[in-house]
Amino acid sequence: MTAREQNLSEIRDAVAKLCASFPMEYWRELDRERRYPTGFVRALTESGYLSCLIPEEYGGAGLGLSAAAAILEEIQRSGANGAACHAQMYTMGTVLRHCSEAQKKKYLPKIAKGELRLQAFGITEPSAGSDTSSIRTTAVRKGERYVVNGQKVWTSRAEHSDLMLLFARTTPRERVQKKTDGMSVFLVDMKAALGKGLTLRPIRTMINHATTEVFFDNLEVPAENLVGEEGKGFRCILDGMNAERILIGAECIGDARWFIAKATAYANERKVFGRPIGQNQGVQFPIARAYMATEAAALMVERATLLYESGKPCGPESNMAKQLAAEASWQAADMCLQTHGGFGFAEEYDVERKFRETRLYQIAPISTNLVLCYLAEHVLQLPRSY
Ligand SMILES: Cc1cc2nc3c(=O)[nH]c(=O)nc-3n(C[C@H](O)[C@H](O)[C@H](O)COP(=O)(O)OP(=O)(O)OC[C@H]3O[C@@H](n4cnc5c(N)ncnc54)[C@H](O)[C@@H]3O)c2cc1C
Repeated sequence: MTAREQNLSEIRDAVAKLCASFPMEYWRELDRERRYPTGFVRALTESGYLSCLIPEEYGGAGLGLSAAAAILEEIQRSGANGAACHAQMYTMGTVLRHCSEAQKKKYLPKIAKGELRLQAFGITEPSAGSDTSSIRTTAVRKGERYVVNGQKVWTSRAEHSDLMLLFARTTPRERVQKKTDGMSVFLVDMKAALGKGLTLRPIRTMINHATTEVFFDNLEVPAENLVGEEGKGFRCILDGMNAERILIGAECIGDARWFIAKATAYANERKVFGRPIGQNQGVQFPIARAYMATEAAALMVERATLLYESGKPCGPESNMAKQLAAEASWQAADMCLQTHGGFGFAEEYDVERKFRETRLYQIAPISTNLVLCYLAEHVLQLPRSY
């Protein structure tokens, strides 16, 4: 085992131990009542896992993306749901590369200590959807402030976060040459803004995800909270997106491994017609297929992670990692439900909850078609289709 593998293996063991103290009944109850896993997120924060990507000089562990990926994979593999807090890791792709030194000094130590939570990332809008350059939320500079107006949708964890990374248009689309120009990123202090131009409205969904609509009505954001250069925000977001895709890919691998372990155990234990159902090839083969798809996807996640960590371009690999892993986890979810027969529908087996949860990754943070569009255009040089 290399030193890197040894480190990752120790992290995995420690995360698995932490997750074991939050039994499946904890997640079932939260899911039933659509409550946020405050205790779990606190435990992850206090143990330093959520700040693993924050450099040591700002109070974090200063680890690489592979450590973050191992942590999130292990959380999902235990049957838990890391979506409650994964944004604190994937926002770091943008924050570490584009925040000023002053912004990092102001926010990162507090995030590392758990005094501030950066869990909300507001990009998607109801009318723009996947066409990010069509966002209509505007931020207009007035002296030392920006005045923000507009609406976001699906801004997850906003009610449980102190800060939001907000993406808004600072120059109208018709006044820029490239439609991806003229947009900017801001760090919004949500606690200060609530009731003063910022309103949240929860959306009830098929999973327990604490997602919201966010309304901006003349919200004033200090100019010093602009991240990077005004009008160049798309670049900042893109830099963060590869990390996000890789981390979501790792979560999907964790989900897939949970489904495979759960199905294998059940197939060995459940007896019908006087023998374990797993003795039938009709039951074995889908498990073996899901295993094969998962191991292949895990290799792509690993490859994308290594490229990202060494600072090399990794757009295609990150997108493929996310897509292959999301497909593998969905294949494993469907297989696991089928293996459990009717019991797969019963809450107490946790299969139906994980089945619903892992389905999200076909849609968010980027839908499967848009990954294919990206590969077709940027890797295969086919005509742009959108
Ligand atoms: C539970 C949940 C949590 C989320 N959390 C966040 C969050 O925290 N922050 C945030 O900013 N966003 C968040 N999102 C939003 C998510 O990123 C979007 O839902 C996703 O990017 C897809 O956008 P859309 O829903 O508007 O779909 P649309 O863009 O309307 O697309 C609908 C369908 O049409 C397809 N489609 C669209 N255009 C094309 C095309 N040109 N070619 C082929 N197919 C196409 C898509 O693939 C999709 O299947 C979340 C979403 C959900 C459901």
